[in-house]
Amino acid sequence: MKRRTLLIGASGTAAVLATSYWVTSNNTLQTASGSDSMQADDISEDEYPKLAKDWTEFAPAGQSFPDPSDTLTLSKEDWQHRLDAAAFDVLREEGTERPFTSPLNDVKDTGVFVCAGCDLPLFTSAMKFDSGTGWPSFVTKIDGHLETRRDFKLILPRTEYHCIRCGGHQGHIFSDGPKPTGQRWCNNGVALKFVPKTSA
Ligand SMILES: [Zn+2]
Repeated sequence: MKRRTLLIGASGTAAVLATSYWVTSNNTLQTASGSDSMQADDISEDEYPKLAKDWTEFAPAGQSFPDPSDTLTLSKEDWQHRLDAAAFDVLREEGTERPFTSPLNDVKDTGVFVCAGCDLPLFTSAMKFDSGTGWPSFVTKIDGHLETRRDFKLILPRTEYHCIRCGGHQGHIFSDGPKPTGQRWCNNGVALKFVPKTSA
């Protein structure tokens, strides 16, 4: 397979990435004005074989997962019943957990990270990296399972992302991540569950 140029992280893009942006479904990064955009090329299988792998290769054999199109809509009361208080605060109220509190920070095993609200797989273990921020962090996501939205909770707009199946808030995307994407998907640990490929 031909190795393709990854534009994100290339010189000249830093200034754009430092401003607010969002990621569309085809991985196009766009500035707030919409006047400038760049294409984040597919992750190279030659250089990043694990990242490019299909998420199902990280899931336990024989385990079934929900489909992203199988939308889960519940009332606030039902969500409160289904989730513990910490998960409800993040997933349904867009809260943020305290850093360095999630056991998932230290997880390095092979597996998939699924939405704590509806079990939809959102990340693979190959996408995880140690950002030092105290929140589980990923360089990319499973395509088609997360949606993004501008967030104006702080003065500077941020890019919020949430589970496409249940709408549960997961975290925010930042542009200071490592190669190959330059992205840091900063996730609340209580919004995820880890499903190891093989049980210990
Ligand atoms: Zn979900």
